[in-house]
Amino acid sequence: MRNKTCQSVLILSLFALFCSAQNLSPHWEELTAPDFVKALDQAKGVCLLPFGIIEKHGPSGPMGTDLINVRYATFEATKQEYAIVFPEYYFGQIFEAKHQPGTIAYSTHLQLELLQETTAEMARNGCKKVVIVSGHGGNTNLIAFFAQTTLETPKDYVVYAITNAPGQAAQMPAAARPSKPGVDGHAGETEIASIMAARPDLVHPERAGTQSGADQKRLDLPANVYTGIWWYARFPNHYQGDASGATAARGAALQQIRAEAIASAIRAIKADQIGPRLQKEFFEESTHPVDTKQ
Ligand SMILES: [Zn+2]
Repeated sequence: MRNKTCQSVLILSLFALFCSAQNLSPHWEELTAPDFVKALDQAKGVCLLPFGIIEKHGPSGPMGTDLINVRYATFEATKQEYAIVFPEYYFGQIFEAKHQPGTIAYSTHLQLELLQETTAEMARNGCKKVVIVSGHGGNTNLIAFFAQTTLETPKDYVVYAITNAPGQAAQMPAAARPSKPGVDGHAGETEIASIMAARPDLVHPERAGTQSGADQKRLDLPANVYTGIWWYARFPNHYQGDASGATAARGAALQQIRAEAIASAIRAIKADQIGPRLQKEFFEESTHPVDTKQ
């Protein structure tokens, strides 16, 4: 009899443990401090920083399109693979849209310093694997450069980045493919369709034709020459493609693909023991490089 009671108590406590683990919010700001400690354990120290921007998204999309889309896909991913998600973050590179209303373009040093301090604060709170989830094409170089700068000084955490590499249309399931060639791009069909899945109340695909998303081809330079004004030269309306054919069904398919890609990246990062070990070894060796075997 006593054994049976013990067994039921054990089952009940295991059940309670399972339930409490299941109920933890992935939203950093929604957790209590005691629950944050449990959440870190459940996330295996993996915390996500979805990185958006505030900029014009053509005539159809809200200015927070990239922020809304990346956070939507990230939270869908955490339903498959739990991790803690940092609050809304949009302090990135967007100088090329400064001529458009509503753009928030912080200075270069602040972008880097804020990213450095934010990831360091996440790590100080136990996020030993900080994962930037890229939501804005204009942040691609910033994120890559920032990741390189993490090797400047020793740290006890690793910064990873999940890029949003657009899939090849031909390899996508039919539901996720563009309605016709040339419609995708900044504020084009992909992005507006994705918002229709996340926040259908915020988009206006019927306004897509009120501005041109066509390439103006105003610069005449060879392909191996880069200049900062390239984007403005091609897409002065800060709009590329055509969002008029965007549908919620395509958006749902795209968001699902993106969420699955993020979830599998979280799984791989949780399992990664080599990155942290090599980084530790590297920082140790970098204090006395003349001893490194030649
Ligand atoms: Zn965008």
